[in-house]
Amino acid sequence: MNTKEKTDKYVFNTYGRIQKVFVKGQGATLWDEEGNTYTDFLAGIAVCSLGHSHPEVAKTVAEQAATLTHVSNLYYTAPQADLAEKLVTSSFADRAFFANSGAEANEAAIKLARRYFNKKGQPDRVKIISMSRSFHGRTMATLSATGQDKIKDGFAPLVDGFIHIPFNDIDALKANMDHTVCAVMMEPIQGEGGVVPADPEYIKAVRALCDREGILLIFDEVQTGMGRCGRLFAHEIYGVTPDIMTLAKALANGLPMGAMLATQEAATGFALGSHATTFGGTPLVAAAALTVFSIISQPAFLQDVVEKGQYFKKQLSSLQATHPHIKAVRGEGLLVGMEIDGEAGKIVEECLKKGFIINAIQGNILRFAPPLIISHEEIDALVAVLDSLLA
Ligand SMILES: *Cc1c(COP(=O)(O)O)cnc(C)c1O
Repeated sequence: MNTKEKTDKYVFNTYGRIQKVFVKGQGATLWDEEGNTYTDFLAGIAVCSLGHSHPEVAKTVAEQAATLTHVSNLYYTAPQADLAEKLVTSSFADRAFFANSGAEANEAAIKLARRYFNKKGQPDRVKIISMSRSFHGRTMATLSATGQDKIKDGFAPLVDGFIHIPFNDIDALKANMDHTVCAVMMEPIQGEGGVVPADPEYIKAVRALCDREGILLIFDEVQTGMGRCGRLFAHEIYGVTPDIMTLAKALANGLPMGAMLATQEAATGFALGSHATTFGGTPLVAAAALTVFSIISQPAFLQDVVEKGQYFKKQLSSLQATHPHIKAVRGEGLLVGMEIDGEAGKIVEECLKKGFIINAIQGNILRFAPPLIISHEEIDALVAVLDSLLA
């Protein structure tokens, strides 16, 4: 049996896989088992932000693996301490909790918000308001938080206490606010939901309303964080900070890692023994994340993401003049979506044949999340292919 046959026979068939077997990656280029090359405009869904097989990350991982991989959070380890310091001192937050995925980081955020009010003597404040078309993960609590029905199909009873409201609609938020709500949870820019940015006035009004009600604001930056949107964290674009933020995808450039960051005040919701995980912040992934952070957090690196993102959006928008199928081009930095009035999956297939990996979401939206090291030439080459395909 070959790789495809084995996978289809032995692995749960929960993924709609594209018919390619990849064997190697370097920068923004991937190789399949037949030796064909592809330019990767998805980066493992906004994960491999420094590109595949980044030499410094590879070196860090190899050295750390040969030094100390894991000892449990019963003990102190330097990479975790150093990473927490970096994340905290470069953000609104005072404390970090390390997990292994985006869903787990969001689980930690949900638990923290509930326990914060429980310990403050407000045990009725348990509800979390989240947004329609949001995506927060696939564990029971995070799929309950997620605002997309297809992800919940067959899993009832869901975790209680989640209210979904339309995104970018402050009146809907006001209408659902009462003394039983402990937090609002949202992505500053919805990723899986279609690359939909929050309106600047909306996100400011959400912050103000949370302050007025004395409840917590959670930003899920699992997809938008770590430089993806041209700032270290996407909420910096809006000048609004949350009380709790979650990160994951790009944290360790492909090694599994999540983080939940919180202000000192919100962090009081957890005490000794409140939450734990075996693998979270293990020296191996934390060391990789430190190397990633040292590169991505450089102002010149982030400025380059902003510049290339603007260039990419400008080139895509310029296609609109000749291709009426394109309905909108949006996003921040190098998280870009293009809405078309046709089937996005068809374009994804055709792009693959021409050697470009892109992604379709919500049926009619093309998502681009290339490695942040993508070049102008690679952007031009993809735009030329899209130009020919959309004709
Ligand atoms: C991918 C994603 C998650 C889930 O992360 P996993 O690592 O797959 O659990 C949660 N929230 C957002 C915004 C995401 O994009």
